[in-house]
Amino acid sequence: MSRLAWRVAYLREVRDETPSARTLVLDVPGWPGHLPGQHVDVRLTAPDGYSAQRSYSIASAADGDAADGEAAGGDTVELTVQRVPDGEVSSYLAGPYAVGDPVELRGPVGGWFVWRPADLAPVLLIAGGSGVVPLMSMIRARAAAGSRMPFRLVYSARTPEDVLYAEELKRRALSDRGLDVSYVYTRRAPDGHGRPAGRLTAVDLAEWGWPPEFEPAVFVCGPTGFVEAAADLLVDAGHDPRRIKTERFGPTGG
Ligand SMILES: Cc1cc2nc3c(=O)[nH]c(=O)nc-3n(C[C@H](O)[C@H](O)[C@H](O)COP(=O)(O)OP(=O)(O)OC[C@H]3O[C@@H](n4cnc5c(N)ncnc54)[C@H](O)[C@@H]3O)c2cc1C
Repeated sequence: MSRLAWRVAYLREVRDETPSARTLVLDVPGWPGHLPGQHVDVRLTAPDGYSAQRSYSIASAADGDAADGEAAGGDTVELTVQRVPDGEVSSYLAGPYAVGDPVELRGPVGGWFVWRPADLAPVLLIAGGSGVVPLMSMIRARAAAGSRMPFRLVYSARTPEDVLYAEELKRRALSDRGLDVSYVYTRRAPDGHGRPAGRLTAVDLAEWGWPPEFEPAVFVCGPTGFVEAAADLLVDAGHDPRRIKTERFGPTGG
């Protein structure tokens, strides 16, 4: 079956991540496997035939042994959907969509915004809001592959309550050797955070990212405005634009 053919997936399990975002664990019979960073297209069709289609990044590490950097099999795909106010598709997927219900899906899509465990550069991940989803797939794949490649995640969220995978990130920051996680809160920081609320700055990247001389592979993902601002900061700091890979999720925000 072609990757561009639509498949029927079924919702097996739901995990609430925040009050407005949830992870969907989908059974996708015949799923060909994926690489961390890829996404799928999801299509909803109403009884009258009207349909709407959106992209969602894959949150799970490729199932099985991804140590060789190749896509591995397994019929499970996890997506994390952030409900957008008045959003046609996200309101359904992060709302009434229930265990056992079908949804149409195709993929994996994208071959550029991917990290392979065999890659030989330190990694800088910069997330804005739900842009952390494909980056989480990379963090999980790194652990699954037993990689010790130094990884740094700089994660911008509005408030502590908006952080996706909060418990898992806290745990991994302690247990996954070589993984550093730093948070930028744009609207309200928790007590004792040490950095006032505000948008990502050059100082944050200098403090928590890698210096350009390390020639890191950089992945930036989030709302369009966030991605463009972060990429500008990186280039101004001297990072080679060819090493900066970006994925834009949509309009502004974050
Ligand atoms: C490659 C790719 C991967 C993506 N991965 C994810 C993912 O892992 N998780 C996830 O939650 N979303 C992801 N998105 C965004 C997703 O595809 C939809 O755009 C989002 O769910 C909104 O769709 P909707 O139908 O609910 O909203 P719509 O009905 O299309 O829009 C409703 C309102 O929300 C605004 N809006 C639309 N999209 C966004 C957005 N991304 N941010 C802020 N406002 C928006 C619109 O301008 C409009 O005003 C990804 C997008 C791309 C291109």
